[in-house]
Amino acid sequence: MNHPIFAANWKMNHGPSAARAFMKTFLTQYPRHYDRTVIFFPPAASIETVDRELENRPDILVGAQNIHWEDQGAFTGEISGPIARDAGATVVLVGHSERRHVFGETNEDTARKCAAAERAGLRPMLCVGEKLDEREAGKTKKVVVRQLRAGFSKLAQIDSFNPLVAYEPVWAIGTGRNATPDDASSIHGVIRAELRAIVGDRARAIPVLYGGSVNAGNAPSLLAASDVDGVLVGGASLDTGSWISIVRTRMTAEIPAGELASDE
Ligand code: PEP
Repeated sequence: MNHPIFAANWKMNHGPSAARAFMKTFLTQYPRHYDRTVIFFPPAASIETVDRELENRPDILVGAQNIHWEDQGAFTGEISGPIARDAGATVVLVGHSERRHVFGETNEDTARKCAAAERAGLRPMLCVGEKLDEREAGKTKKVVVRQLRAGFSKLAQIDSFNPLVAYEPVWAIGTGRNATPDDASSIHGVIRAELRAIVGDRARAIPVLYGGSVNAGNAPSLLAASDVDGVLVGGASLDTGSWISIVRTRMTAEIPAGELASDE
């Protein structure tokens, strides 16, 4: 397994005051770690606030939840890659299921956004995942592979670039239903194979995170599943107590065998 990544997607929660208070509490209880990376994706208005709290913490990064595909211009209400970078972001979520299904983002949009991230020096975390009807129709692999190929199709330097991927089955996001560790492993294996077809052996170094109703109870078994390099967490990342329990998850080698069985 790669160095594990714990990513918090705050969605439209925690403006600058709440973000500052969260970070102050979090940082006093979470000293520097050398064996894992934490990434916060706050709303755009809170990126700079979170970044300011992170002095001398290279183990914690801040990212944007979304960027526009253009670098600047007449796009009222949008945030560009260079603006996110200037505010302190080094990573950006691209194609989160809420962007795809609430705001109508297409695979073509995600391709343009990954290219914009690359130009701005941001690592894109491309989110892929099937809807419930697609899963029930046996189309999960097809959907995920199509989203992956399309999302990375416009990168100029795919050979030297350093993206991340998050597998987030849409039916598991915010529903309390998570994929089993075996389900996650199986789709992560498909993603890894597709990445190998795109970038060769470097695919092994591209982190593939699982997201969808992750909490402190199911994080250990999901993180122990093969090819799962981290977790992307929405609801359970909003409260400092539950987020701290998740980021302190013990890795496989530290967990007594009997404890790995439960994933609920
Ligand atoms: C998400 O928003 O990326 C997510 C996985 O949400 P939740 O953990 O609430 O399902």
